[in-house]
Amino acid sequence: MHETVFDRILRGTLPADRVYEDEDVLAFRDINPQAPIHVLVIPKAKFARFTEIASRPIEETGRFFSAVSKVATSLNLDSSGYRVVINNGRYSGQEVEYFHAHILSGRKLNWPPG
Ligand code: 5GP
Repeated sequence: MHETVFDRILRGTLPADRVYEDEDVLAFRDINPQAPIHVLVIPKAKFARFTEIASRPIEETGRFFSAVSKVATSLNLDSSGYRVVINNGRYSGQEVEYFHAHILSGRKLNWPPG
């Protein structure tokens, strides 16, 4: 797998506005926010795409999504609500080939998404 900007953020060689970290994940603010709150959550155990989740340990996946929920709670988003987005592959517009979830909030989000 080639190195991505998220590898560098995780390693600490590229600065990021970190909002949460535990043994499984790191969360930081998106550099080009699409909503007033736009946070990215990455697993420390790297893989490139959501597609690969099917062949990864189920406990790892459970811990990842549990952490995404904790990040949203820590940002006080539970009462207002938020959206979790995962882009997978070319048609989704996935730019960074390091699996990640977007947490978006701080405004009423449109549905359907574009
Ligand atoms: P994707 O389209 O792959 O799901 O989303 C990648 C996201 O990473 C984009 O929203 C983009 O703005 C964000 N991003 C790209 N490079 C950087 C960076 O160097 N730092 C941070 N914090 N976010 C980045």
